[in-house]
Amino acid sequence: MNEKKKKNPKRMIRLQGIGASQGIAIGKVFLLTGDIIKVEERTIAVAEIEKEIKKFKRAVELTRKELAEIQIQARQRIGKEGEQIFDAHQLLLDDKIINDATIEKVQSECKNADFAYYKVMQGFQQSLENVDNEYFQGRLADIRDVKRRLIRNIQGKEPHYLNNLTNPAIIISNDLTPSETVLMDRQKVLGFVTNVGGKTSHAAIMARSLEIPAVVGLQDITNVVESNDTIILDGNQGVVILNPTAAELNKYLKLRDRHNEITKELSKIRDLPCRSLDGKDVDLSANLEFPGEINSIITYGARGIGLFRTENLYLAKSELPSEEEEFEEYYKVAEKVSPYPVIIRTLDIGGDKKPACIDIPEEDNPFLGWRAIRFCLEKADLLKKQIRAILRASVMGNVKMMIPMVSCLEEICKTKAIIEQAKAELRAQKMPFDEQMELGVMIEVPSAAIMADVIAEEVDFLSIGTNDLIQYTLAVDRGNANVAHLYKRLPPSVLRIIKQVVDAGHSKGVWVGMCGEMAADPLATLILLGLDLDELSVSPAMLPEVKRIIRAATFEQAERIAEKALQMKTSDEIETYIRNVMATRYKQKNLY
Ligand code: PEP
Ligand code: MG
Repeated sequence: MNEKKKKNPKRMIRLQGIGASQGIAIGKVFLLTGDIIKVEERTIAVAEIEKEIKKFKRAVELTRKELAEIQIQARQRIGKEGEQIFDAHQLLLDDKIINDATIEKVQSECKNADFAYYKVMQGFQQSLENVDNEYFQGRLADIRDVKRRLIRNIQGKEPHYLNNLTNPAIIISNDLTPSETVLMDRQKVLGFVTNVGGKTSHAAIMARSLEIPAVVGLQDITNVVESNDTIILDGNQGVVILNPTAAELNKYLKLRDRHNEITKELSKIRDLPCRSLDGKDVDLSANLEFPGEINSIITYGARGIGLFRTENLYLAKSELPSEEEEFEEYYKVAEKVSPYPVIIRTLDIGGDKKPACIDIPEEDNPFLGWRAIRFCLEKADLLKKQIRAILRASVMGNVKMMIPMVSCLEEICKTKAIIEQAKAELRAQKMPFDEQMELGVMIEVPSAAIMADVIAEEVDFLSIGTNDLIQYTLAVDRGNANVAHLYKRLPPSVLRIIKQVVDAGHSKGVWVGMCGEMAADPLATLILLGLDLDELSVSPAMLPEVKRIIRAATFEQAERIAEKALQMKTSDEIETYIRNVMATRYKQKNLY
């Protein structure tokens, strides 16, 4: 090794972003900086105006053809959801107000067409940039995408600059547009990391469908990395590590190998039951964020969907979806997973989820405020519309409905009254639905957990939402970086609550599942098996790993492990204990 480098190695930097697409990638940085297009302002002669306008119109035509081709690729590689993204691009390309304003600028100000269009689009972009909303932020990438493409075509330049990528690398950029993402060469792009973006940005949705690991929302990573730096991207945890030490690199190489091994093992255990060595079955299902992910869920061998987060249908829209639109989405999902169940959760907005199409006022403590069922019960029409759509979709297959963030019995009674109204309306309209459709509630607020025996008498199942249950039990805001160290993976208090909820549910004859992230945590799997959970609903990529752990243990052993964990006093003590169990039983050290 070169002496200078040895003395002065680059410091390791660990950054936390948003895991947008699962998987681990390790490689060299390919840094895409700045807005790749350059636009110069020119004043043209009056005689040139017509020529400039023709150039603009030709570029619009060419862009339309390019978008149509990308749309075909998007349909083939991603499906209908990908195709629809480019419908929005076509609409933007043909926007009469934008195009007329561009031509007007060329005519009245004698400006070159690319500059005129750039200016008009910039104004449009700025009006959205100030809106603090994930949906609009996500759509900005679409606007930039169309803008860059059309300007390149006015200028007659090569459109796909990612073609410069000659060796496999991890792309780092401020943002990635949907068309850049869909055209990515899977052999060369090991993963991508962006400054902006959220879980619902189109690039993130596409990355998940294309199974390219991705972390987004890192704010200024483009200023921190340099091309050819070594980088680790952990899309499962939303973590990026720059210039890793040898030990860190080793750890992640093992994790990546494990991930790849799991993918290979997948085909072997995909169709096998999730059954312990002594014959205890656990229903292993998947969490569904977007209907477009349904194919990958099926590939991973899920036995149904334990949590369909319907708010994403709302977050991605500027107008409220109609009952018909919701019905179609739910019906399609139910059809795909049938005969296995799909548990459709009613709208869980508020907190950190604020759709553009619903007005939710600012609150001092949004996570303790007007959220989920509390909000929906006061917007009874909105809730009834959704319930009608879910009921109508229930004719297709095995559909169940679940209420989020219940904190008291009254909320369940009120929701049931609205369900009865919706059923009566559907009967009167002669619209079919499953009269026996099961109703469940999420147990994610301590008051609901304490009253689980009472609640269980009113419903068909309970599903524990540990993301919120940990937040509310430990009084640690799940999104606040200042207290993130207090948000533990396996808090003993929460394990005790889980045990109490499972026992309460079983004593009343209802099944108890878990759909929070703990269900997908391999460190928790043996404890959850031992606590007698009936169902675990996990992010799709974790399905094989959780199944593998359950298939290699007996229920009896797991019960003993859970008992022991329940006697421990701290989360760290429990984690250390389970790591040791995993190291001896599964010969895996430092994997999770
Ligand atoms: C949970 O709180 O565990 C849960 C699954 O709900 P969400 O993460 O959508 O709040
Ligand atoms: Mg929750």
